[in-house]
This record gives sequence, structure tokens and C-alpha cells, in this order.
Amino acid sequence: MKKTFDLSDDRSFSSGDEVRRLQDRLLAEHLRYCRSHSPFYRERLGAFPDRDYDFDSLQELPTTSKRDLAEHNEAFFAVPGNEIADICFTSGTTGTPCRIVYTASDLDRLAYNDACGYRAAGMRPGDKVLLTCTIDRCFIAGLAYYQGVVKFGAAAIRNGLNTLESHAEVISTLHPENIVGVPSFLAKLGRYLAEAGIDGSCVKRLICIGEPARNRQMELTPLGAKLEGFWPGAVHSTYASSEIVTSFTECSARCGGHPPADLAVVEILDEAGNRVPDGEVGEVTVTPLQVTGMPLVRFRTGDVSFIIPGPCPCGRGTLRLGPVLGRKAQMLKVRGTTLFPGAFFNVLDGIPGVTEYFMEVSGTALSDEITIFVSCREGKTPESLGVAEKLYGRTRIHVPVVAVDPAAARQRVFGVSRKPVRFFDLRKN
Ligand SMILES: [Zn+2]
Repeated sequence: MKKTFDLSDDRSFSSGDEVRRLQDRLLAEHLRYCRSHSPFYRERLGAFPDRDYDFDSLQELPTTSKRDLAEHNEAFFAVPGNEIADICFTSGTTGTPCRIVYTASDLDRLAYNDACGYRAAGMRPGDKVLLTCTIDRCFIAGLAYYQGVVKFGAAAIRNGLNTLESHAEVISTLHPENIVGVPSFLAKLGRYLAEAGIDGSCVKRLICIGEPARNRQMELTPLGAKLEGFWPGAVHSTYASSEIVTSFTECSARCGGHPPADLAVVEILDEAGNRVPDGEVGEVTVTPLQVTGMPLVRFRTGDVSFIIPGPCPCGRGTLRLGPVLGRKAQMLKVRGTTLFPGAFFNVLDGIPGVTEYFMEVSGTALSDEITIFVSCREGKTPESLGVAEKLYGRTRIHVPVVAVDPAAARQRVFGVSRKPVRFFDLRKN
């Protein structure tokens, strides 16, 4: 197994066929490593022929779920304890939190991954990068973004989870060309700069983490549009997760995120576990390559997205992943239409008089019943704001919209965890 990663290893500009050949070679190595080092895969793959699998024959092997990780957590550790360099917990949004372990080589791989992403986004060595995300609290992405800056040869400003005033001070004194952060926070920062009369035009790139800034049609969401209002042409969406140890970053074409050629094999699977053609929506399933601490095979992320068909104008031969449309567990089926809460939430985000909202879903396996609860600014009602009509205009689905008072809405949305929760699943399966 390779132990060091260097930006000169980046083969993203190889042709699509060359990328596939490189991945097939690394995939065969990866599967051999899993069989010999990972107790979980020694058993799981034991029933399958021990030969070289490529992208096509990979489909013969079973997928790995979040439940597998939670139930057999330690059996996934492929190195002795003294080779583990970092331990994280997954957020536990789907159940039991579990440990993810990284070796020093895995951390170097992550740094390389994000350095490739920065290069794709158009960053230059010598740039300054304001990091508005934490690098502690077991947040692996924050650490990877930081180490990626160092590997790329730029300067990190680790201002982290600090106040708007503090970030504004950094922007007006150090003039960073790049900011890494969560879109909703960056939108607040943009508004703060505008209202305070601080010039933020030094910022050329926003590396957006955690929330999608585009929709199924690759148009900016209302949140993405807000960001572009403050920083024109700056939004670069990314996708990543602790388990897959891989991030996807939008290049200068800003139409889907590229993973580095040598780090991941990506499949999009339908409900039955079969691959769907490029452009079609399904579950993002990733086999991260060259991971040593906790290697995974065909890991089902639970995130639903699609691969953008055709070659990217930037010339990279690697695939492009679209925005995450939602969690598979939150998929809604209404009278034959399949969609995600985000389709409604994007509309609600774009109605200025709406102050807070949440969704309840009930019903049976055949059809879901959706109710949307909305609180409005004083003097406004969902009817006067045309909320139901605007939702229908975008989703072509009629849903009941119920007015709630702002305090009750906030209690419901922020009463569950520190993160806002706007989706309540009351379905009986
Ligand atoms: Zn591209």
C-alpha cells in the first residue's frame, strides 16, 4: 500500500479510459488489502472468488451499509491500534454512532484529496484560505481542509467557528482569496459584510461544505443564489463523508464535483442495488481506494444524487457528482412521484416572509402524506404569501400548509438537537 500522496500524483486530466484503467488496477489492490487486513471483509468476501475485480465485475460483490459499520464496527479496523493516527465518530444521524479510524497515510491521502479539490476550484499556491469550520470536535473534514491547504502550498487562516465580526476583521485585514465553510453561514457572513460596508471582493472562491448549493437541474438553490449575490461566481460545492474518506469538489465549470482519479470508484445504485445510467438519480455508493485504516467496499452512503453525463468542459477525465438531493431514508413517494424534502425546503427558503418551517410525513408504504408547517413575519400568513401555490409551482404536488406561531416552530426545529431538524417522519413501514 502506498504511504505518501503528492499533488504530482493527480491524474485527473487523463482520459476517461485511462482513469478507468488506473482505478481498475487500484481496485484490485484495494480488494486484496481488504481480504488480507480487514476482519469484516475477510469474512464477507470469503464466499466470493479471490480474483482481480474491475469496475464491471465489482457489481458481483456485496455492498456495505451503515448498519454493517455500526454492528461490526471493530471488525472494519484493518490495522493494529498502534497504527491508528486519528479516531472520529460518525454523526449518528441514522442510529448508533460508530468509530472511524484513520492511519497517518489516510490523513495524508485526505490532504492530497482536498489539495486536488482546491486545484480544481482554481485556487493558486500562495493564496490565503479562511477556514470558517472547526478542525476539532472529531470533524474530519475540517482537518482535511486544513491539511489540504498546507499540502497545496496556500496559507490557512484557522478562524474556525468564530463570530461574524471576527471573520469580517480577517477579511478586511488579510484579504483571503478563498473561504471554506457551510453555505448558510457564508450567506450570513456575506450579508454582514454588505451591511457593515466591508469590501469582500478579495474573495474569489467559496468552498461550500455540508449543504448543497444547487438543485436537480443544477441551478443555484435560493441559498446558493444568496451566496452568488454577495460573491459573484464564487460558489464551489463539495460532497464528502467521514466514512468514504473522499471529497468531490466542483471545478471551474461549477457543474458537479470531481473526485481525484486515484481515490474512489463511484456507483449510483437503484432501490434494488443495480447501477443506474449517468444522469439518473440513485444512492451514492463509493469504494474508496488506497485507504489503510478502515477500508470499505461498495459503501452505501444513504445520500441520493446522480452522475452528470458527458465529459466536463474543464478537461478532467473523472466523473462529476451532482448535488445531494436528500437522504435515501427521507425519500417521499406521493401519488407516483418520488422527491425529497429539499425540493420543498428550497422553495420555502426563497420566500422572504417565511421565518421558519418544518415538514411532517405520515402514511403507508404506498403513498406518503405531507404536511408543511410555516411561521411567517408579523402581518403575513401562508395564504397572503402564496406558500401553497409556490410549492405546487415547483413540485407539482398539492400539500396542506398549516400556519404555526414562530415560537412553536422554533421549538420544534431546534428542540431536537443542535442542528436544525425540519423533517419529521411519522410513517409506518
Ligand atoms: Zn470539471
